[in-house]
Amino acid sequence: MLLPTTMRAMRKLRGQAGLDFCTIPVPVCGPRDVLIRVRITGICGTDLHIYNWDAWSQNRIKPPLTTGHEFVGDIVALGAEVHGLSLGQRVSAEGHITCGQCRLCRTGRGHICRTFKGVGVDREGCFADYIAVPAQNVWPVPAGVPDMFAAIYDPLGNAMHTVMSAPVSLKNVLVMGAGAIGLFAVSIAKVAGAANVMVVEPNATRIDLARKAGADLVLNPRTDDVPALVRRATSNEGPEVVLEMSGNAKAMQQAFSLVATGGTMCLLGIPGTPVDINWAEDIMFKGITIHGITGRRMFETWFQVDEFLLHHSARLAASVTHTMPCAAYEEAFALMNAGACGKINLTWA
Ligand code: NAD
Ligand code: ZN
Repeated sequence: MLLPTTMRAMRKLRGQAGLDFCTIPVPVCGPRDVLIRVRITGICGTDLHIYNWDAWSQNRIKPPLTTGHEFVGDIVALGAEVHGLSLGQRVSAEGHITCGQCRLCRTGRGHICRTFKGVGVDREGCFADYIAVPAQNVWPVPAGVPDMFAAIYDPLGNAMHTVMSAPVSLKNVLVMGAGAIGLFAVSIAKVAGAANVMVVEPNATRIDLARKAGADLVLNPRTDDVPALVRRATSNEGPEVVLEMSGNAKAMQQAFSLVATGGTMCLLGIPGTPVDINWAEDIMFKGITIHGITGRRMFETWFQVDEFLLHHSARLAASVTHTMPCAAYEEAFALMNAGACGKINLTWA
């Protein structure tokens, strides 16, 4: 196939808010890489941080850089050393490029590799017509999975990894924060057999989306007596499993005070600063188990997302609220900054 030499890309060109739509060379496909023509990309909260040029991105991002790491596309070129993949194959990819050499990588824990490189964070991303990624990160998408969900294996994987870290079957599960990942976690927890999925979320749009995602009870921390209502819904015990997906300090403190004695706390949300937790009352004397969650297990989580998407993707339909052309990215980031959306996808056709 004859490939163009240049392409469109959404790039951070300098250290300030915003992104620029540029024309740049199509990436070179190294011997162990595949080159992918991007169909659809998802916008992640990380992309919003980079767009807004907040303190985290000022420390981490080195412009110029093409952002984005959630995508689906078609393979258009294969490196000379790549086997087992083919031209035209529809794929997504794990966005953490691990070293493969360290103690963690070599003991099946590449998701916490200390030197991983993030697509669209530490190296060129997918908000472009083409992206080159190592073949070992490529994930072939089963034929029955719709593009709009194939683009978001990555955040679905964050939700999946979090839910699968706790025994949710026939338990009371509380999800703190119904951003895109919290919404996905609600649907996944229901499919995984949770008896009762409760959500705490202050944003009116997302309260509505959490109900549509299948939550049994949705509470607003600004207007509801969350502790009393959660206790009433859990025979006074509190939820056996709490999935912290807000990154909000108050929500985290509330999560630790609500989790049942003997329960499990799964922490995905990233607080901007250290959070004060009552270690004695809320952790030790309650004998809880705490899981810190990073990324996706490679590649167990990806197989789980495959099965979820093949059998239950309809449950996610309401959580993907917008599909917009890539040129409308400023409108998309404005919606995210306003919290007026669930997941937003951008099309690159
Ligand atoms: P998001 O910002 O869209 O969602 C967070 C939600 O929490 C928002 O809807 C917000 O209204 C809600 N919230 C705010 N205050 C709250 C409160 N007091 N109680 C309950 N909810 C409250 O983020 P997202 O993209 O859905 O990601 C969720 C979190 O996970 C973020 O903190 C993100 O940084 C983090 N994250 C972690 C990993 C990881 O590997 N650990 C990966 C991706 C994202
Ligand atoms: Zn490693």
